[in-house]
Amino acid sequence: MESIYFDHAATTPPRPEVVEAMLPHYRETWGNPSSLHWSGAAARQAMDRAREQVAALLAALPEEIVFTGSGTEADNQALIGAAIANQKKGDHLITSTIEHHAVLHTAQSLEKHGLQVTYLPVDSHGLVDPAAVQKAITDNTFLVSIMHANNEIGTMQPIADIGAICRERNVLFHTDAVQTAGHTPINVRDMNIDLLSLSAHKLYGPKGVGALFVRKGVRIAPLLHGGGHERGRRSSTENVPGIVGLGEAAHLAAQDMQWEMSHNAALRDRLIQGMLERVPDSMLTGHPTQRLPNSASFCVRYIEGESMLLNLDFERIAVSSGSACTSGSLEASHVLLAIGLPHDVAHGSLRVSVGRGNTMEEVEHFLEVFPPIVEKLRAMSPISPVQSADDWPGAEHEHQNHEH
Ligand SMILES: *Cc1c(COP(=O)(O)O)cnc(C)c1O
Repeated sequence: MESIYFDHAATTPPRPEVVEAMLPHYRETWGNPSSLHWSGAAARQAMDRAREQVAALLAALPEEIVFTGSGTEADNQALIGAAIANQKKGDHLITSTIEHHAVLHTAQSLEKHGLQVTYLPVDSHGLVDPAAVQKAITDNTFLVSIMHANNEIGTMQPIADIGAICRERNVLFHTDAVQTAGHTPINVRDMNIDLLSLSAHKLYGPKGVGALFVRKGVRIAPLLHGGGHERGRRSSTENVPGIVGLGEAAHLAAQDMQWEMSHNAALRDRLIQGMLERVPDSMLTGHPTQRLPNSASFCVRYIEGESMLLNLDFERIAVSSGSACTSGSLEASHVLLAIGLPHDVAHGSLRVSVGRGNTMEEVEHFLEVFPPIVEKLRAMSPISPVQSADDWPGAEHEHQNHEH
């Protein structure tokens, strides 16, 4: 079997049609879209089309789309831009403990600058309770930022309910939809979303380009000041080929969404079922049903995520682990700790995220290859089985943490 790519939550391979759509904008229509002469016109037109394509994916208007340099930038722009523009309204931000670092670290930075941040907890499936959002809103709240789907455990939040609460309380609502845009249906009107981040490379587009949806009438301050591009909302000469690639990717994603959702979900469900059946002391992380169609995430007891990842890589299978070994010490994922897992369990995390190019044969191959890897690693594991299999961490989490 050739190499298998099961890490679509990290990045997706650009679709050939996307690359084809981009090339002419390097070779021929390389003009500056701000130029008034002939060379700018073609670039401008291409960008207009891409803006319509991205808007269509979200049921937004083209003028509500601001192109950015990444999903990270879109998240920073939403939080910092809203904070600056709403200084008179209030200084309180509400977010969750399981956000991507692009939101979490931005919130922490705002805190250092004197703002108040509430980090809402999640339940053992990783869900934010809309009632908790409702309760946390004060007269000083200027923004609620809750991600649409979590990149590590796949849990999808009830963002339409959260959006409705924010609308009723007249508070802006931002959602990081980097994992869902192009993968699951999004309607910014029905879901009462004011600000939404997405990233091209997570939906089979190029890296280094993203977008922020900014609802008409919502005011946020720009992060980048300069020539006034993107209607003054994001100065910088535009990455025209990247933007065209994002537009094409959005267009194709909308077209293929129903097929892709069922294709991915079938692979995901077989992965989950096969894994829990064949690997003793393994558990699913995230919500059993309210989850991304392409994401299967687990914790495997008594071994470390990174060892599993490297052993699978040796078999040419690319997956991801929530735990990163930084400078020799294992750092457990903030998401896995937030859903209540003890450190030792969180260290054994594995994320398998499938995509449009994967097949059931690849899934079956994974299910053949993986159990022996687990057996081998357990045989040489320094982590002794201190707890029995029926002693799994539940919602109460009264377990000791076994630091190592
Ligand atoms: C990948 C990701 C980002 C960051 O997007 P980049 O374009 O890689 O900067 C933000 N949020 C989530 C949920 C992501 O998965």
